[in-house]
Amino acid sequence: MQDSETASPDIRQNLGSVKSRIAAAAAEAGRDAAGVTLVAISKTHPAPTIAAAIEAGHAVFGENRVQESESKWPALKSDHPGVRLHLVGPLQSNKVKRAVQLFDAIETVDRAKLARALAREIEATGTRPDCFIQVNTGEEDQKAGIRPADADAFIKECREQFQLPLAGLMCIPPVDEEPGLHFGLLAEIARRNGLDKLSMGMSGDFETAIRFGATHVRVGTAIFGARPPFKPQED
Ligand SMILES: *Cc1c(COP(=O)(O)O)cnc(C)c1O
Repeated sequence: MQDSETASPDIRQNLGSVKSRIAAAAAEAGRDAAGVTLVAISKTHPAPTIAAAIEAGHAVFGENRVQESESKWPALKSDHPGVRLHLVGPLQSNKVKRAVQLFDAIETVDRAKLARALAREIEATGTRPDCFIQVNTGEEDQKAGIRPADADAFIKECREQFQLPLAGLMCIPPVDEEPGLHFGLLAEIARRNGLDKLSMGMSGDFETAIRFGATHVRVGTAIFGARPPFKPQED
């Protein structure tokens, strides 16, 4: 890879431009931009890059792997106590204890075994991360998330049986489909279940997501630049 591709982008400027695009999309949708939280997805980027974003005034971040996060975030969090961290990647039940220690929000609750493990950890520690249920709106076999047809029952189970601190729903639409269809479906499932928060929209489609009611947009590339190629690895 050439130096020009790996050169650190101007994070302060990128953050400013994403925030003004959020403000414009919110205004166009007749919404208050304060109702849209920008979750800066810092996966694969090293701690100094993340520190630059914190120093530029940003305070909400997301990562997709527990192990990678443990190598970067304990120090960043102790240097910057107000910063909040969301887990946006799949979580194995055997990593729930570690996840609850580090993450302020867990966006990928999608099965009873995981919900039960989270409930136990919350009860044992008194730590209450905001929980989002991930919905596999595209019903893709390779993607995590509860199927739309099972969402109402799972939401009820998370509330009544596990008493999880449920904030809302999250989705990652299929890459080759119109994202608005998926954002609309997620918003409808949330509405009929009385859930307020919608985590949807990434670098390529966050403005569309805001039009459909996103309260959290998860943006990586538009802030931090391109990531190194994906390396499959178990977390
Ligand atoms: C990587 C990632 C994002 C950010 O994607 P960009 O296209 O880089 O903005 C958002 N959500 C999840 C779940 C991710 O894994």
